Amino acid sequence: MNLQIEQGDITTYAVDAIVNAANTTLLGGGGVDGAIHRAAGPQLLTECRALHGCRTGQAKLTKGYRLPAKYVIHTPGPIWQGGTAEEEELLASCYRCCLQLAEEKKCRTVAFPSISTGVYHFPLECAAKIAVREIAAFLQTAACVQKVTMVCFDGRTKAAYDNALAEQ
Ligand code: ADP
Repeated sequence: MNLQIEQGDITTYAVDAIVNAANTTLLGGGGVDGAIHRAAGPQLLTECRALHGCRTGQAKLTKGYRLPAKYVIHTPGPIWQGGTAEEEELLASCYRCCLQLAEEKKCRTVAFPSISTGVYHFPLECAAKIAVREIAAFLQTAACVQKVTMVCFDGRTKAAYDNALAEQ
């Protein structure tokens, strides 16, 4: 399987595209979004301003600026509201839309953070299962994307993705 689970800081990954767990304004925030904007430098925010936001479950692409990654794919994940607001389908859509954009931009390597499981409080085990399912399905038909890395910031997150991959 060309899906790898690692523990680390996604801002250090020298891949073709890293994914940003953004919010719908695309104007930066806390968590991984803040870390990506700090590492990329102010030009990233300038490009993001011109995008005029992004809907939950969709994705938009920018350059990586000072990051080692060539591109940043920004996707606002769903805020967990108890599971009745199509959160699962929206999260699956985030992964699919990001991978589709990566494919269009001829990316070979892509790194994802654990979308929505931080301040958006999506249940971790459920989010991991959706992520692994969508990435594995995409890799089966992808022409360009060859390697996807799930970059988990902490051990608990990595364990959840390891389990999801083992069960896949
Ligand atoms: P969301 O709003 O989508 O929940 P968060 O940024 O709050 O996004 O959290 C998403 C995940 O990203 C969490 O598991 C968080 O620990 C993780 N995270 C935070 N900083 C980084 C980083 N530099 N690299 C990778 N993951 C990170």
